[in-house]
Amino acid sequence: MGLIRAVFDAAFRQGGPRLKPVGPRWPLLLFHVDTGGCGGCGMELEALSAGPYDMEGAGFGFVPSPRSADVLLVTGTLTRTMAPVLEAAWQAMPKPKGLICVGGCAMDGGIFPENYTVMGGLDRKAAIDLQIPGCPPTPQQVLDGLCSLFGQRAQPAKGQAEGSSSTSS
Ligand code: SF4
Repeated sequence: MGLIRAVFDAAFRQGGPRLKPVGPRWPLLLFHVDTGGCGGCGMELEALSAGPYDMEGAGFGFVPSPRSADVLLVTGTLTRTMAPVLEAAWQAMPKPKGLICVGGCAMDGGIFPENYTVMGGLDRKAAIDLQIPGCPPTPQQVLDGLCSLFGQRAQPAKGQAEGSSSTSS
């Protein structure tokens, strides 16, 4: 076990109080960190933020700093380069705080096997509050996942039929 992994594990497993899936704050503020991968999941998050999904109306918004964030939203497999960045973002967030993995890479490493530069997904490294699978998940699937934390039901994006998939393009 390398030093980076040991430090990372300690930082995440101490964790502090986790986000409770009841009594949603409004809005819930998200800070996104892409720790590796192909960038596809990050593009879907951009589409969620800028597209017709009304994520603010559902009670969620992105913030540019972890210091004001409630939830750390991670995309991509964890590289050794980004591990300290992710740890710093987590430590900067006020408590209570939550951790959400978006996409297969963030969850279990996805298509990127562990090697000397890649540490893999967070599923065996941290207490994850919510995992949103997919490669990548669509913006609507991400919003549905966020809403599931609070038992809400996301509204379909304007102009989209119920049950249809939606991707950034
Ligand atoms: S889960 Fe798929 S889309 Fe997302 S970063 Fe990994 S390879 Fe890219």
